[in-house]
Formats: sequence, C-alpha cells, structure tokens
Amino acid sequence: MSTILGIGECMVELSPRNEGQLDKSFAGDVFNTLWYARAALGSEWNVAFHSGFGNDAMSIKMKEFIENAGISCASSPIISDRVPGLYMIHLDGAERSFSYWRDTSAARKLMQDAETLWAKVRESDLVFLSGITLAILSDTDCERLLNGLRDNTRPNAKLAFDPNIRPRLWNDMDRMRTVISKAASISNIVMPSFEDEQVWFGDATPEDTAKRYQALGATQIIVKNGEDATLVLHDGEFSLHPVTPVSGVVDTTAAGDSFNGGYFAELLQTDDVAQAIKSAQSCAGTCVCFNGALVPFERLTS
Ligand code: AMP
Repeated sequence: MSTILGIGECMVELSPRNEGQLDKSFAGDVFNTLWYARAALGSEWNVAFHSGFGNDAMSIKMKEFIENAGISCASSPIISDRVPGLYMIHLDGAERSFSYWRDTSAARKLMQDAETLWAKVRESDLVFLSGITLAILSDTDCERLLNGLRDNTRPNAKLAFDPNIRPRLWNDMDRMRTVISKAASISNIVMPSFEDEQVWFGDATPEDTAKRYQALGATQIIVKNGEDATLVLHDGEFSLHPVTPVSGVVDTTAAGDSFNGGYFAELLQTDDVAQAIKSAQSCAGTCVCFNGALVPFERLTS
C-alpha cells in the first residue's frame, strides 16, 4: 500500500454559532491538507498523520475524529501531561480573527518518539510538513526533525514543504527565515503563498519566490497567489496556471491547505504537475465556498 504522511498539529476549533453558543471541530494546516488528500485518494492509499496527543477526553475525541476520517494517527506519541491546542474564531461582520491557546499543546512534543516517526517516514511515498510544524517545536527538536527527514526519506519518495509563514509563532524572524530555508533545501516540493513570502522574504514577484527556493535545491515549486494565477517552476521550467473564478466565496480559511491536499492526491496518482494544479485549484475553489477549514467529504466531488 502507498502512504502519504503529514507531520504537524491538529487543534480544537471553536467557532461562533448563535449568540453565546460555540461549535466545536478540529483543524490544523497539515491535518487539513491530509483531509483533502484523503477525500481524493482511493482506498489503496494510506493517509497517515504524525503529531503528539494527550490522553485526556478531548485528545481521545480528536484522535477518533481523525481516524473516522480515514487518516491513521495511532502511532503518534501520547504526551500524558499535555492537552490539545485550541483556537477560537471571532466574527465581526464578514471579518474573521483568531485567538490561539497552543503554547503547551501535546503536538509540540511530537518528536518524543522519533524512532517510530523515522520508521513511518521510511515507508512513505510522500512526506509533508509546514513552517507551522517547525515553529511549534523546540530549537533542538526542529533540528532533529529536519535532519531525520533528510536521512530517512526514501530516495524515490517526495518530501513536500509549505512554509506557511506565521510570524506570531516564531520568537526571532531571522531564525524563522533560516529554518524555513533549511526545510526547503531538503525538500523536493515547496508550496509557498506569495502574499507571505513577499512580506517576510522581500520577494518582488512570484518568480522571485520560485527562484529563491530553486536556488536552495527544490525541483518543484508551486507559488500560490490567492485568486491570481498559480506559478509553477518545475525542473527549471516556468508555467503560469490561471485560477478559474468561483462565485459564492465565503471563507478563505484553509484555501492553501486544500490546494496542497488536492495537489498531492493528483500528483501521486498521475505524476502530472499541470493536472495536479487543476485538481488543487478546483479543491481550493470548493473550500473557499464553505465556512471553516474542512469541507465534508460528501461535498468534495473530486
Ligand atoms: P492562497 O493561499 O490565498 O494563495 O490560496 C491558495 C489557493 O486557493 C489559490 O492558489 C487558489 O487556487 C485558491 N483561492 C484562494 N482564494 C480564492 C478565491 N477568492 N477564488 C478562487 N480560488 C481561490
């Protein structure tokens, strides 16, 4: 069986429903990506998530939610003195803002049983992580994770990285740039969002972003750019892929994550980059028409 493995944090999500009432769900960038990949991949694919979980009631519910989606997380370490991270969505008209409680989440200890993680990495066809995964780890664990991925990813497997720049999660912006660049340098596929790269790396154009990651060693760079065309730099060749406008956009949360999930699913099945971009844009186009990070599987047609 073929395997896609994501490494990161899933959080409890609280969102406003009626006055004084909250809905509870679970979300987090790498997990969201796996959700969309799972929806598009057949049963011959094993979709796996490596994180850290507590053994409190909420952690157990979170693991059930993940497993019920067909994403295996059973071999992640249990951190018995920790609980899940949590975030709350605030709505002010159509404007959304977020509060986070994740400083001491169990996921920050996901490197606790590194040998089990390396065994999973060695059996995976694609391994995915993000800048958020790296930001929540201690400096030592971050280094161990990157070195371990470099040493354990199979030569014919793909290592994919989304910088997903969240300055609030990093204490030091220079270190953030250094770590993101190191992760990109060991990855085959890098999937940045131009809006973030422009601010934090000073890129003038999506081409600059792509060339910067190419110079670090990546061979497949996919620069997402909201409603604007997606830029691809693959094996030294640039191509531009316009986004088909969608009507009824309500919430762009997880647009980039759903794009990544749709991309991986198609790429792993066909190895066709142009076709994978089409699937990614279509998946993200569906995502932005729904509230919240996760579109129910039955509403995802491809
Ligand atoms: P972003 O992370 O904002 O660059 O968005 C990721 C992907 O989501 C883009 O590459 C598009 O495919 C899709 N997307 C984002 N915003 C929109 C939008 N308003 N309409 C259609 N697709 C969108």
